[in-house]
Amino acid sequence: MRDNKRVYTFGNGLAEGAADMRNLLGGKGANLAEMNRIGVPVPPGFTITTETCNEYFARGKDTLISLLSDEVMRAVHHIEGLMGATFGDPTNPLLVSVRSGARASMPGMMDTILNLGLNDTVVEGLAKKTGNPRFAYDSYRRFVQMYGDVVLGMKPETKEDIAPFEEIIDHVKAQRGVRLDNELNVDELKSLVVLFKQEIKHRTGKDFPTDPMEQLWGAICAVFDSWMNERAILYRKMEGIPAEWGTAVNVQAMVFGNMGDTSATGVCFSRNAGTGENVFNGEYLVNAQGEDVVAGIRTPQQITKAGSLDWAHQQGISEEVRASLYPSMEEAMPEIYAELDMLQQRLEAHYKDMQDMEFTVQDGKLWFLQTRNGKRTGTAMVKIAMDLLRDGVIDEKTALLRCEPHKLDELLHPVFDPVAKSQAKVLTHGLPASPGAASGQIVFFADDATRWHDDGRRVIMVRIETSPEDLAGMSAAEGILTARGGMTSHAAVVARGMGKCCVSGAGAINIDYKHRTVEIDGVVLKEGDYLSLNGSTGEVYQGLVKTQPAELTGDFAELMTLCEKYTKLVVRTNADTPHDAAIARSFGAVGIGLCRTEHMFFENEKIKAMREMILADTKEGREKALAKLLPYQKQDFYGILKSMDGCPVNVRLLDPPLHEFVPHDLAGQQIMADEMGISVQEIQRRVNSLSEHNPMLGHRGCRLGNTYPEITVMQTRAILSAAIQLKKEGYDPQPEIMVPLIGIVNEFDEQEKVIRDTALQLFAEEGVELHFRVGTMIEIPRAALTADQIARHAEYFSFGTNDLTQMTFGYSRDDIASFLPVYLDKKILSVDPFQELDQEGVGQLIRMAVERGRSTRPDLPCGICGEHGGDPHSVKFCHHIGLSYVSCSPFRVPIARLSAAQAAIE
Ligand code: PEP
Ligand code: MG
Repeated sequence: MRDNKRVYTFGNGLAEGAADMRNLLGGKGANLAEMNRIGVPVPPGFTITTETCNEYFARGKDTLISLLSDEVMRAVHHIEGLMGATFGDPTNPLLVSVRSGARASMPGMMDTILNLGLNDTVVEGLAKKTGNPRFAYDSYRRFVQMYGDVVLGMKPETKEDIAPFEEIIDHVKAQRGVRLDNELNVDELKSLVVLFKQEIKHRTGKDFPTDPMEQLWGAICAVFDSWMNERAILYRKMEGIPAEWGTAVNVQAMVFGNMGDTSATGVCFSRNAGTGENVFNGEYLVNAQGEDVVAGIRTPQQITKAGSLDWAHQQGISEEVRASLYPSMEEAMPEIYAELDMLQQRLEAHYKDMQDMEFTVQDGKLWFLQTRNGKRTGTAMVKIAMDLLRDGVIDEKTALLRCEPHKLDELLHPVFDPVAKSQAKVLTHGLPASPGAASGQIVFFADDATRWHDDGRRVIMVRIETSPEDLAGMSAAEGILTARGGMTSHAAVVARGMGKCCVSGAGAINIDYKHRTVEIDGVVLKEGDYLSLNGSTGEVYQGLVKTQPAELTGDFAELMTLCEKYTKLVVRTNADTPHDAAIARSFGAVGIGLCRTEHMFFENEKIKAMREMILADTKEGREKALAKLLPYQKQDFYGILKSMDGCPVNVRLLDPPLHEFVPHDLAGQQIMADEMGISVQEIQRRVNSLSEHNPMLGHRGCRLGNTYPEITVMQTRAILSAAIQLKKEGYDPQPEIMVPLIGIVNEFDEQEKVIRDTALQLFAEEGVELHFRVGTMIEIPRAALTADQIARHAEYFSFGTNDLTQMTFGYSRDDIASFLPVYLDKKILSVDPFQELDQEGVGQLIRMAVERGRSTRPDLPCGICGEHGGDPHSVKFCHHIGLSYVSCSPFRVPIARLSAAQAAIE
């Protein structure tokens, strides 16, 4: 604990905090202090540290209040001094906001309380002081509502219910015959306060607290508590944010965007968070408070005129209507707009990154409430990094480090097939909140989205608006469609963060949660019907529209070229068809690190010959069947070697147990029996003889080649004769032959001898010599432990981290799902070790095997070809332990390339 200081003030231009204190003050607190230091107007306030949050959970509420009380009182007086108003004073009251703020941005996951400090007497003082009773009572009813929700737990009872306070508001509005909250008059607002308090008393049995200090402590503790709410925990899990980080609490003087038509509130971005274009943009609402914009209750207006024109065009709104009903801030408040524009530029230049800012205009005066590096889509991430690099704002290394490898995935995501799209019916338009294309079946509730997704269905989540409770459902859905809310609504911000397609604010859709239907332009769709969304244009299509892969040029290509400049690790791909090899090559893979041969045996004629081989009782019988397979195998290898011409192609000999190639159901066995002209009983006898208790530890890998060397002979001939043919045709094939599942050096030596002898014989027959290497998978712990022996003859190692993880942990890779969720929940495991390499355990084995292998053969190339080869953390580990290459599925090649470059820079 830093001198036991728990509270840091700001607001006099001499903030106690600064941007580099985000671990202690949270992102929001640190940036408020920093803005204050560089002359951006922020309402005065103070930040209670994240360490205090941990203390709160460790020592409890009462201890915390007694520990904090002097510091909080000092800080409240600090605000009072700067604002010339007093907290709880009935004639000249100070009101405050209480907000969360963790080290990493967690938009909307935790709680906020605004307008704190009001009670029945203070509200009268506020009305007199501002000369605006409507404003005073509107603030009061908002405060009671928020405090009730957040601190007193006034939540809706079932998911179909609307929140209790919303129900009361709707009732009063209906009585008055008005549509919007801001059409309610003072008396109606007063009666809302009374009704809200009655509801609180009715539901909680307690009176609403009138003492402002009691209110403040309630709010501070509620914000700390919200660190542990379900949605925050889920978000942390998804984003890998440790619970120990805690949240800070920011208490600030209230500034009011709801003081009339010279007041407003808004959210803006220094660049476009969806596309990355360098255009200032954002949304604001006149006479409103911040939560109105974020909650998407009223449709916000655009900040810039250009943005407003685009918006009107997308919504099909005429220029006359736009200019009179939805003017931009640039048109409606030109002076404030100019100041906002100037300050957003100052903030972006200061932080050297795209900023996401919240502001309030109180009676013609602009205040900034928050700035942070804006969340962005993968496309925007790459464009912004490359634009800032070109403009000389950041250097190459920073540009590379700015890009999150896993987000490149979004750029590789499909778009609609143009033909399918031209034939599809556009039902309506919403806002293009998060790009990409998505199709799926309609669901209306988050828990259904999760359930349907778990059942293997692709779903589109359709909501009036989303709230943070919907997070898990949004994550499970292919895309999200909302009826309300702008580009900065929760749905939009969260979807962009997830890289998920989202269309928000599609005003023409009418959702009926009770009947689980949505009506769009006269078409009624029900739960389970298909819908397609284009998150890049905001279009909503009826039915399932076919998608196609994205094109990767421009900034993406430049970024990938930049990776090459810094990276030390080579990136290869796991591919077993010429098509996959070609895709991977276009993404920059420089070779195949794993060509699994087993997938090649499943097509018609091939599977027949394969089964014939499996059924044969003698070597001669097997050889006869293998001779049929040889030309097919040769053809497969020919295509792959050709599409990777000039690059190494590492072909693995047959690996899976043979029973995987024979049918296990009676119908399949009958077909097989008919095809082969033998009885079903005969087939069943053989299938039974192949059955094993632990097939993954059974007759597979090099154990097949060692018991049936003729399989190795056939595969070696196929690989090398394909290469010879290509060489004769003028190509430059570079085959490598890899022996799987070695545990003992003799297993490798036996297979190597078969491979070398077969090669010599083939070269003599063909009259051609060809260079090729023979290497091995290291995927059994014993192989890692005896790597020095294995490297005597093996010319390279490829770590099969799928099996190595399986055998090091003793977890079946096919059955881990039965206990993994519990292990993750109980924190026995922090991640799925089959997705992210376990550096402490499995990683040690790899590190040791590399050292031991290179002690025998100093120039031993070592790579990894398990799933971990495309995981950013694992790739970085591979760099640090000196692997030569990583190999991953084609679509993860760019991710691995960026991770490798980052590892070299870091
Ligand atoms: C591995 O075990 O990591 C590997 C690449 O082989 P497979 O997944 O085919 O067993
Ligand atoms: Mg394996």
